[in-house]
Amino acid sequence: MIVYKFGGTSLAEATKIKAVAKIIKSVTEVSMVVVSAPGKRFDQDIKVTDLLYSLAANTSQESKFGNIFLEIKSRFELMIKGLAVEGKAVLEALDAIAKEILQGVSQDFVASRGEYLNALLISEYLGFRFVDAAEFVRLRDDGSIDSLTYELGAKILDRNISTIVPGFYGLDKDGKIKTFSRGGSDITGAILAVCAQADVYQNWTDVSGVLTADPRIVDNPSFVPEITYAELRQMACFGTNVFHSEAISPVAAAGIPIQIKNTLRPEDKGTTISCQREVKKMPVVAVSGVKNLSKISINKENLDQRELAKDISALKNLGFKSIFSRFTADYAYIYGKYETDKLPEELECKLVLYKEKYTVLGLVGQGLDWAKVLSFVADLQDLPIIDFSFEQISATAVIVVEDSHYQEVIQIISDKIR
Ligand code: ASP
Repeated sequence: MIVYKFGGTSLAEATKIKAVAKIIKSVTEVSMVVVSAPGKRFDQDIKVTDLLYSLAANTSQESKFGNIFLEIKSRFELMIKGLAVEGKAVLEALDAIAKEILQGVSQDFVASRGEYLNALLISEYLGFRFVDAAEFVRLRDDGSIDSLTYELGAKILDRNISTIVPGFYGLDKDGKIKTFSRGGSDITGAILAVCAQADVYQNWTDVSGVLTADPRIVDNPSFVPEITYAELRQMACFGTNVFHSEAISPVAAAGIPIQIKNTLRPEDKGTTISCQREVKKMPVVAVSGVKNLSKISINKENLDQRELAKDISALKNLGFKSIFSRFTADYAYIYGKYETDKLPEELECKLVLYKEKYTVLGLVGQGLDWAKVLSFVADLQDLPIIDFSFEQISATAVIVVEDSHYQEVIQIISDKIR
């Protein structure tokens, strides 16, 4: 059995939904499908989820609320027309939602309705059973998946009936709708794959799989046919976002392979993600980087781990998210995202903050060894590298440069991976 997840771009309008239906119907067996809300139809378009967030923010401004609501409604009406379905369930749900929002509901509830409505629409078009994610997806306070989800899912879902489930949300412990972080329909897909004991979890998007580097940054990156769950997780730490990082663990634990496929080019093989791959064929798989990072340098003679941990947790409380750190006897350097210019008031060590100049790049591949890392670094020739390190266990080399060299370094490395 295949569990499919289709992203918002693949479901942005009727013609795209027809292409998706063709993909699903080309396989005769029963299938389970997770859908996102309709995404962008063209560059300047607005995703339905973003429209819903503005709707939630404008409940007190009658005319703005009305206009945004009409925009959302007309997107669904267009799709109903294009698919030549009655659309009664969707239209009734839309009206009910408008009333519910004005009576006062949470932002998460409003944001989740794009997936809910799209799943209702597509279930009518495909003639598949609709199962609301609220019936089985349970989230903890920190947004992680409660294990009850899998028990409920196994009870509610029937492996003999083709089913559509809206992505992106579940219920919290008080029974209220709670969304995952953005792009979270991937997580719902992973949950469904585990509940349905799928043979494969196919994640359909608008690219033909994982690339050696972001095509918006480099020319001619290559496709990566196979990677491991661990490699994908590492790549996600350094900004790769083809697949939501929190969606990896559930399927990895169940040993279900993930395939990233392109709705516009279904014949392309895409990328398969599983626990093992043939490393010799492609020792290094990808490079990605996070820009606009701050650096915090920490100085104290005989730096004590406990004092350091206190300072790091104070930084975290002010919103600092560490990407890469290095410790020596008297110094520590931490590169990360930091929204504020402030340092915590009470600190154990002396901290200096350097704002937004740094890029941390991750070069990932289970075939990496010191010799390969050094040859990549040698190719960067006289580009000023601030720091680099290699960790065999995570199969990742980290290179720190100034933001101004971001693009150049990624291009050189991506060309060498090929
Ligand atoms: N529609 C949500 C978003 O735009 C969730 C998803 O597409 O996965 O983030």
